[in-house]
Amino acid sequence: MKLSIEQAKQLIENKIRRTGYNIIYKNDAVSGMVSTITYNCYIPIIKSRTSLYTACHELYHCLRARTVDVYINEMRAEKFAHKYMRHLGFVVPRKHTKRSKWYVRNKLRKAKRRGLKKVDSEVQNFLNWGIIILSRWINV
Ligand SMILES: [Zn+2]
Repeated sequence: MKLSIEQAKQLIENKIRRTGYNIIYKNDAVSGMVSTITYNCYIPIIKSRTSLYTACHELYHCLRARTVDVYINEMRAEKFAHKYMRHLGFVVPRKHTKRSKWYVRNKLRKAKRRGLKKVDSEVQNFLNWGIIILSRWINV
């Protein structure tokens, strides 16, 4: 697939709506949110790879109910966003891969503060592997 940003925007928004979530636009391109109580999905207006990446991440949350710890769920959303961006024909900027790890590492830190003893091995791999290996691995 090789879509324009506008085509990708339509596709992602349709997918989100089909899950039953309402889309609410927000100004910040790098963050979004999904409320499973109000069924609102907050995403930036998609007009760049950055905002598209954020929307892909939130799409994951709309598609999958959380059944694991937050730090694991967020890693899965980040992996999905990488995979889905590439599926749509977009290069994931290296800074997103870096931010991705930083984000999951932060969530892991919080989980540890709350008493987490054993770190999920997939998350461990996600955080330890090099960026090149990581991006190759996500394509599998
Ligand atoms: Zn998330």
